[in-house]
Amino acid sequence: MQLFEMNWPQVAALSKDTPVVFPIAALEQHGRHMPVFTDSLLLGEVIRRASERLAERVLFAPLMWLGNSDHHLDFAGTLSAAPRTYLDLLETLMENFIQHGFKRLVFVNGHGGNIVPGQQAVFELRQKHRQRSDLLLLSATYWGLGGKPYEVDPSIKQRQMGHACEWETSMILRIAPHLVGDLSKVEPVEFGSAFEPASRGWITKDRTEPGHIGDPRHATAEKGETLFRVFSDDVVKLLERVIAWDGRGWNG
Ligand SMILES: [Zn+2]
Repeated sequence: MQLFEMNWPQVAALSKDTPVVFPIAALEQHGRHMPVFTDSLLLGEVIRRASERLAERVLFAPLMWLGNSDHHLDFAGTLSAAPRTYLDLLETLMENFIQHGFKRLVFVNGHGGNIVPGQQAVFELRQKHRQRSDLLLLSATYWGLGGKPYEVDPSIKQRQMGHACEWETSMILRIAPHLVGDLSKVEPVEFGSAFEPASRGWITKDRTEPGHIGDPRHATAEKGETLFRVFSDDVVKLLERVIAWDGRGWNG
């Protein structure tokens, strides 16, 4: 079910155990060869595929395209909600639906800069509603749900999500090839290990001059189809678990 197509009595009539998904993405630079709307286009496609399979069992809010992208602001075209503004925005979205009586609320995220704010938002909301044992508040990122696309297609070289990388470029080639620039002119940018396992504060220009991280030259539309299939399968599996949750317990 798509929230944007419904009127308020239809929403009010839904079972309050219906999972509500807030897709959260971004608009930010994706190197010289990819459009700034990449994360929103990719998450939109993952959600489109998942929502077709889940049909009437899950309610999907429209994709929130404004994300937390302050680390990309040295590159033209980036639009960002500052971190604390973004945290308030996420908490407000879920809080609105808690007020409407819904209990199973899920952020499905498609942008690295949203991972920490998404987790912080569900953390803070749970403290605020600590008397409630019937709330399930989740934050999940589509490429972090366990799928290993390189095991499905061994020609996929990359092992983790980069930025405007083999994975993201392949997926844009699959759905909007006219938006991808000339890959023969793109140089690879190493992921690097920084100070792992510590988490280092960084801005994107610390790591890359052109704006991408990874090697987009290996991208193909066929790999893009595999990536979408793996990631949308993972999102469906997660939401099936949310549907099946007993409404009280810790495990699910
Ligand atoms: Zn991206």
